[in-house]
Amino acid sequence: MEKVDVLIVGQGLAGSWLSWWLDRTGLSYRVMDDADPSSASRHAAGLINPVTGRRMVKTWMIDELMPFAWRAYQDMGGFLQTNLITETSVIDFFPNVQMLQAFQKRSAEEPSYLTYGQNATMYNTWFRYDLGWGVIHPCYLVQTEKLLFTWRSRLLDKGSLREEEFNMDKLVVREPVYQYEDLSARYIIFCDGKVSAGNKFFEKLPFALNKGEGLLVEIQEIPQTTIFKKGMSLIPWKDHVFWVGSSYQWEFSDDQPSENFLRSTENWMKNFLQVPYKIVDHFAAVRPATLERRPFVGFHPQYAGMGILNGLGTKGCSLAPYFAAQLAEIMAGRGVIDPLADIKRFRKILLK
Ligand SMILES: Cc1cc2nc3c(=O)[nH]c(=O)nc-3n(C[C@H](O)[C@H](O)[C@H](O)COP(=O)(O)OP(=O)(O)OC[C@H]3O[C@@H](n4cnc5c(N)ncnc54)[C@H](O)[C@@H]3O)c2cc1C
Repeated sequence: MEKVDVLIVGQGLAGSWLSWWLDRTGLSYRVMDDADPSSASRHAAGLINPVTGRRMVKTWMIDELMPFAWRAYQDMGGFLQTNLITETSVIDFFPNVQMLQAFQKRSAEEPSYLTYGQNATMYNTWFRYDLGWGVIHPCYLVQTEKLLFTWRSRLLDKGSLREEEFNMDKLVVREPVYQYEDLSARYIIFCDGKVSAGNKFFEKLPFALNKGEGLLVEIQEIPQTTIFKKGMSLIPWKDHVFWVGSSYQWEFSDDQPSENFLRSTENWMKNFLQVPYKIVDHFAAVRPATLERRPFVGFHPQYAGMGILNGLGTKGCSLAPYFAAQLAEIMAGRGVIDPLADIKRFRKILLK
């Protein structure tokens, strides 16, 4: 029987960051991941944006999350000898008068992130827009794909990853030990994204899964120095390729790319872009979002060693490193989980 401190189910952003911090605490672990090609992390654009929504309000906890994320991605990048995060700006073209007014109002109240663009015609070689633009700065862009694949190879090299599907029927709960086939662990942490919404131990948490679609689009003439947004965003991805998206669908019958999204995004690009483009990919994934838009972090009230890091919704890039660190610290016998994220708030529901 192989003994480890922690069994992690899932190697998306949540499981990657949790294993990273466990390395730092010195706890032993195994990650089990079935490489779902449609997982949210594999399709995330990688943007960390300090403002959010139609009213352009500051993103929840962003003043703590951004500096934490910057250091964490820099450290992991240094360790993996690659760059995982860059600072950038969003050029926000106002899609309607309401958004223009919201930007003007918020930039007066929150000048640390928002600046109104004075030179209205500056971008009209590439884009069509009538109502001007503003700048959101600083934003960060995380190389999510690079992170997932380089960290995965690292885990494989040191024998810490099993590339297989975790099957709940094979889990034997014998507190304080969790046994899975030939593996025994003191903790089991579910970092399995949308799949946790059907996990018999955690399905009562108020998940509100959300489908997102995007395109990869080759555009030769637009420089890849910033993000351009007009309702939807054009985000630098690889050489001359932009990530274009995304949709937010609360009701959906499958997790597949849809004709509807393709058509409406093509229309959007025809109206917005002044330069030629070529669609090279179309993808869809389900975000593990939550009803109250706060993550699920912590331990089951009935099973002390069974935990979850989930509910990262639209903000996995900033929430995963921060809350994975809190969870790792707890398992190392110190630290606390932020009560706003701790699943203790659902104690009664989970015990029903
Ligand atoms: C289109 C789109 C764009 C996005 N853009 C951004 C963005 O710009 N910025 C941002 O911060 N967030 C973004 N997000 C949100 C972000 O992707 C998620 O918050 C985050 O990826 C969730 O990570 P996770 O690790 O919790 O889950 P997931 O990414 O779903 O990872 C779960 C992992 O668990 C594995 N797994 C599941 N079940 C099992 C099992 N039974 N056995 C073994 N392995 C299993 C899967 O294979 C997968 O690898 C976006 C999401 C989408 C869909």
